[in-house]
Amino acid sequence: MAQQKITLIGAGLVGSLCAVFLAKRGYQVEIFERRADMRQEKISAGRSINLALANRGIHPLKKAGLMQQVEKMLIPMKGRMIHSLEGEQTLQPYGQTEAEVIYSVSRADLNILCMNAAEKEGNVTIHFNQNCLAVNFESNEILFRDEITGKEYQHNFEHIIGTDGSASAVREAIHQKESANNNLEPLGHSYKELSIPADKDGNFQMDPNALHIWPRGGYMLIALPNMDASFTVTLFMPNEGEISFDAVKNKTQLQQFFQQHFPDTLAIMPDLSDEFFNNPTGKLATVRCSPWHYQDKALLIGDAAHAIVPFHGQGMNCGFEDVFEFDCLIKQYSGDWLKIFAHTEIQRKPNADAIADMAIENYITMRDSVRDEKYLLKNSLAFELEKRFPDYFCPRYSMVMFHRLPYQEALRRGKIQDEILDELAKDIIEISQVDFSFAQTIIESRLSKVLLNPTP
Ligand SMILES: Cc1cc2nc3c(=O)[nH]c(=O)nc-3n(C[C@H](O)[C@H](O)[C@H](O)COP(=O)(O)OP(=O)(O)OC[C@H]3O[C@@H](n4cnc5c(N)ncnc54)[C@H](O)[C@@H]3O)c2cc1C
Repeated sequence: MAQQKITLIGAGLVGSLCAVFLAKRGYQVEIFERRADMRQEKISAGRSINLALANRGIHPLKKAGLMQQVEKMLIPMKGRMIHSLEGEQTLQPYGQTEAEVIYSVSRADLNILCMNAAEKEGNVTIHFNQNCLAVNFESNEILFRDEITGKEYQHNFEHIIGTDGSASAVREAIHQKESANNNLEPLGHSYKELSIPADKDGNFQMDPNALHIWPRGGYMLIALPNMDASFTVTLFMPNEGEISFDAVKNKTQLQQFFQQHFPDTLAIMPDLSDEFFNNPTGKLATVRCSPWHYQDKALLIGDAAHAIVPFHGQGMNCGFEDVFEFDCLIKQYSGDWLKIFAHTEIQRKPNADAIADMAIENYITMRDSVRDEKYLLKNSLAFELEKRFPDYFCPRYSMVMFHRLPYQEALRRGKIQDEILDELAKDIIEISQVDFSFAQTIIESRLSKVLLNPTP
């Protein structure tokens, strides 16, 4: 087995972590990464500067033995800090216990940690500035271009894992061979990264232990804390229309827009104009595709298989979960790559589709519902039902973020729970009015007992 070679395309978050797991199983791993080595050159990590890490991402990091190091890089976020138009701040906790928090982490630092850990295993080599252009499955060759010299060359492979992100070249190669279902659904909204720096004494200018949201209906601003006491701020809004990226064309319009919709941010965002007009506008889309594998030759995981919109903070978490389940299947079907690849797809695809749906739904929750009285009542009621009937009821957000039951199951149970919440909250204005014996009857008749963390 030690002789078997695995070729990974892409040394992003998922590729680097996957290399750690493969190396631990004794494979010779080569990763080809299009970009320069972010440890040598200061390059943008691509996309968001920081990310929310949750339980599904933490579990694989623990299994890889990396969590002790990762812990030092984390800032806990206890809930959503909602900023009203008038500048009031209200914390809506994500969970009910101390442990039910999510964590802000730097994308670049986490990526570097995973790359270092992979290389430390001894049987992993990362080749930077190597762009995968095409795959020839007949001759088992990958066509690369060296981005420094411009030279193109062929490289032999035994098995490829495509961890090359949402515009995956490996996906394209697989789908040229197999009749494919390759669906890219644009959201029609984009994002722009901005920042709130530390104050003059080097302190945070807002509560660091929260994910800040300025929900404004059709669009929103969010902010996640960084270790240097700054916040990375992201504006999400439609591409076109009255309130849209298209409508903000100059500094005056930008100032007016922020003055009108996010007035409390102006004093703490001194670089707003520069950042807004210099930083790229990122498009958002969902990628759903199949197949994820070609024979026993290539498999897609991470964003290459399932890019989702970022509103549940689950893209990376889901990709890390792919890696862990892939590793479990390698153990189960040792050496039978066709079974390993096929079962990874069978196991993960319905779950990736489920989190894709929940991520789109969560955009509406974040930008709009969090201001709605009925939503807040149902949210508190969900916590109360979890306390009273913990074997049956767990709020959907908690199932996704704090537990590891399959996403598909979280989506399914979430729909039933939502109907129960609607029914119980229909004619009431506070939780004390709920008939909890009726609640118990309908919960126990409609929901089975919940297994929150199925795999060890
Ligand atoms: C605004 C925003 C916020 C987000 N927030 C969160 C969050 O809070 N929590 C969360 O869990 N997820 C979040 N995500 C999603 C997360 O960023 C992705 O799910 C995650 O980066 C996927 O990792 P990956 O390794 O599969 O792909 P990527 O991170 O895209 O890495 C792919 C790698 O492959 C390389 N590559 C690409 N093409 C080639 C090629 N042809 N040849 C060689 N190399 C190639 C790339 O250079 C890159 O290094 C967010 C995404 C966005 C856009």
